[in-house]
Amino acid sequence: MDDTIVLKFGGSSVSNNENLKIVANKIIDFKNNHKNIVVILSAQGKTTDKLISEAFELTEEVNKRELDALVSCGEQMSAAKLSILLNSLGFSAVSLTGWQAGIYTNNTNQDALIETINTERICSELKNGNIVIITGFQGVNEKLDITTFGRGGSDTTAVAVAAALKAKNCYIFSDVDGIYSSDPNKVKGTKKLTKISYDEMLQLSNEGAKVLHNRCIEIGEKYKIPIITKSTFNDNYGTVISDEKIENDEIKSIIKKDISRISIIGNGIIRNTETIVKAINFIKQNKLEMLEFNVSESKISITFKNLVSDRMLEKLHNEIFVNK
Ligand code: ASP
Ligand code: MG
Repeated sequence: MDDTIVLKFGGSSVSNNENLKIVANKIIDFKNNHKNIVVILSAQGKTTDKLISEAFELTEEVNKRELDALVSCGEQMSAAKLSILLNSLGFSAVSLTGWQAGIYTNNTNQDALIETINTERICSELKNGNIVIITGFQGVNEKLDITTFGRGGSDTTAVAVAAALKAKNCYIFSDVDGIYSSDPNKVKGTKKLTKISYDEMLQLSNEGAKVLHNRCIEIGEKYKIPIITKSTFNDNYGTVISDEKIENDEIKSIIKKDISRISIIGNGIIRNTETIVKAINFIKQNKLEMLEFNVSESKISITFKNLVSDRMLEKLHNEIFVNK
């Protein structure tokens, strides 16, 4: 549909009424500038954790079908609450469950894959001028039983709905404002990236970055939906995940997985001898013992014999990004 924007808000963005109001105002800003607004919501705060642990308090062997029926309620609550709020502010909105939104999946409870999205209902609500709010991370299988997509799966709902509607962009709002050149909690001097390609982002996710649900990046790449990660709580620029440039060979990010593996990510890194040499020298100079040094099209991965400290990660980050 023309001029359609999908906005997804994570659990901490909707954790209480104050935050729900911030989210409502952000949505209203978008509604004032675009025709069709579709919102995907996560459950509020730690609701999903709480529902899961309540189920396991009843029994160690939780029935999988019923677990999906239970955890899907978290998103139904947040979606309904946001809709109540938007309607009270004079903006007509409607909340839809996965089933009402036409999201059909396979039968794998807790890890269901989306098979199709029948957008009829979403489109008719949009045509009537409604802001459409859809519960994240859930759909229905062929029996119309509720299924869920795995933890963090609301991102996947958002990008899949954006693809089905041929939306312009899919914004993922959360409490982090983008993708950084390394983990800002561990490394001083990181910078936020303005852009990153789908492939680089997938590599980062696979190496342990927990910013997005992996599957949403694959869908974004397949259907060419630009994914924009931004903070709910400020207006800072975010990071755009797309394939805007045909070729692009900047180094994007360095990440430490588990405790003994560091990866440097950037398209075409295999041809970037300067960075490969820097990484090798770094290992020698710091007398680090490595088990494996692997270079692929967009990643250098080094597995060390011993644990590597955050300090080492920071040192390598500075070598690559600061002392260029
Ligand atoms: N509420 C679900 C979870 O906590 C899905 C999501 O937030 O994306 O995993
Ligand atoms: Mg998430």
